Amino acid sequence: MKAKLLGADIDRLTMDQAIKAITALVRVGKPCRVITLNPEYLYQAVTADSSLLELVRKADLVTADGEGIVWAGRVAGTPFPERVTGIDLMLRLMPKATAEGWRVYLLGSAPGVAEEAAENLRRMHPGLQMAGTHHGYFQPAEEAAVVAEIKQAVPQLLFVALGAPKQEIWIDKYIDEIGPVMAMGVGGSLDVIAG
Ligand code: UDP
Repeated sequence: MKAKLLGADIDRLTMDQAIKAITALVRVGKPCRVITLNPEYLYQAVTADSSLLELVRKADLVTADGEGIVWAGRVAGTPFPERVTGIDLMLRLMPKATAEGWRVYLLGSAPGVAEEAAENLRRMHPGLQMAGTHHGYFQPAEEAAVVAEIKQAVPQLLFVALGAPKQEIWIDKYIDEIGPVMAMGVGGSLDVIAG
């Protein structure tokens, strides 16, 4: 069940249902994308860059991030059961990843932040397997090496913190090369988790 808002199809799911949907995607073992859609992204897609809408169409799962999206769904008569934000979804996936043995890769934010976030996540979830981390301030010339490093680490979950929409564009460009992984943009979440 989806809500159609300004040309974007958004899944009308609870957090629990989103976790189940991602679990099913990971089990299929193909590259897949999750977008937690906020009003800023949608506004930019509609007013300035329609290729961003195309990325929403290509996503396997799109959640309602942001009160503005939840409000618009209600007004359109296609209410969302709840808000599913990037950081909440990411944090809720951690116990699942621990139980399933999924490897987690954190890409983005200033040097040191992803490592710190990984350490905190491991502390919160003993047994969680971190596949690796990399900061988000690499040069275009370094991009191929970053992609190769992620591919070699073979993560099942890849969280990309480059800010929206840069992270969604990055995922679109490289996910097929990386291989069977669930990739999701998480904005400033690593900064928050690093504390
Ligand atoms: N960032 C990055 N590389 C860049 C630009 C941004 O790693 O080239 C990181 C930045 O350090 C921050 C995150 O991306 O951790 C963006 O956070 P913000 O809260 O601005 O993103 P939003 O939630 O607005 O998408």
